[in-house]
Amino acid sequence: APQLSARVSSLKPSATVELTERVRVARASGRKILGLSSGDPNIDTDPRIIEAATRAMHDGDTHYGPSAGSLALRDAIVERESRLSGATYDPADIIVTPGGKFALMAALMAMVDADDEVIVPVPGWVSYGPCVRMCGGRPVPLAMLDTIDVEALARAITPRTKAIILNSPVNPTARVLPEAELRQVAELARKHGFWIIFDQVYRDLIHDGTFPSMQGIEGMRERTFVVDSMSKTFGMTGWRLGYLALPPGASKAVVKFIQHSIYCVPGFIQAAGLEALRLYDQIVPGYRATFEARQKRTAARLNGIEGISCPLPEATFYLFPAIAGDDIEIARHWLDTVDVAVLPGSSFGEAGAGHLRLSVTCSDADLDEALARIEQAGLPSK
Ligand code: PLP
Repeated sequence: APQLSARVSSLKPSATVELTERVRVARASGRKILGLSSGDPNIDTDPRIIEAATRAMHDGDTHYGPSAGSLALRDAIVERESRLSGATYDPADIIVTPGGKFALMAALMAMVDADDEVIVPVPGWVSYGPCVRMCGGRPVPLAMLDTIDVEALARAITPRTKAIILNSPVNPTARVLPEAELRQVAELARKHGFWIIFDQVYRDLIHDGTFPSMQGIEGMRERTFVVDSMSKTFGMTGWRLGYLALPPGASKAVVKFIQHSIYCVPGFIQAAGLEALRLYDQIVPGYRATFEARQKRTAARLNGIEGISCPLPEATFYLFPAIAGDDIEIARHWLDTVDVAVLPGSSFGEAGAGHLRLSVTCSDADLDEALARIEQAGLPSK
């Protein structure tokens, strides 16, 4: 048979997927597995948002639309950016995408040539490396567990460095990157002339609301491709809706990619997104408080277990405790002995080893049950 492309065949299935598969097999055999591993919050989309989508469909918004997205939604995104990051955008520099993941792909497609290098954070979201590869580039991992080591970053830069991906708040560590670190990266980006891709898909889930953004730093809106999404903010993961906020002059290239791939995001999905943004103040603070309360409860109970040290997260719905022992072994131990699924930190890259990622995206009852089971199992004895 003819060969499939090396570009895609060579991608490794993510460890997240491997664990999900183990969970699926266990469930199929009749075991009730409690999942603390999902990045998909247990929140149903607000009925008013669903109503906005169905209204748009009944009103005939079922055709091709502008590839950059509807002007109404792009205007609302300009407003959002100005309110939340202080950056001033023209609607022409906003492009609506099917989710944050495709926003990332579109950004990379627009900037990466064969063998260009893109620096990716570790521990970091599992799709960064594969997305860079699919665009023909080479991911260069940079360890940044507790802080961005500027000297290590300076050493990672080569003449082929096209961009660095930064994610704040961070999946999996739940850290919010401080402005001082962003400024240090900004300085190197200016000096060496590379782009910054700034993934802020968890920015609405920061407990105290303080969000240093790359595009908010003077002069950096011109170098930064902002990736954002409605998925985590509004419990809309399945709607596939996100956006790019772009440097002046970049939107033409990105729109070409959108035109020749998906054409456009469905208009009725965008109508739902517009309604979601309109309802922001009514919806988001409640979600944020729910996740924060669950994280607090979870951290307190984890810290009561010998060998686990769990800092209180600043954001997101994840916790990233350090554990005494091999993270993969402990994740398997909990799955095999007490039917609880968590992710080993090393599935987010080597620098995540010695940690676990727990998500508080299940119901409160399931969370409490899972924590009781984890307390019962403890860490495997050596
Ligand atoms: N970026 C990060 C850091 C994520 O964790 C995710 C989802 O898990 C995404 C981007 C993409 O989310 P979506 O494509 O649903 O917007």
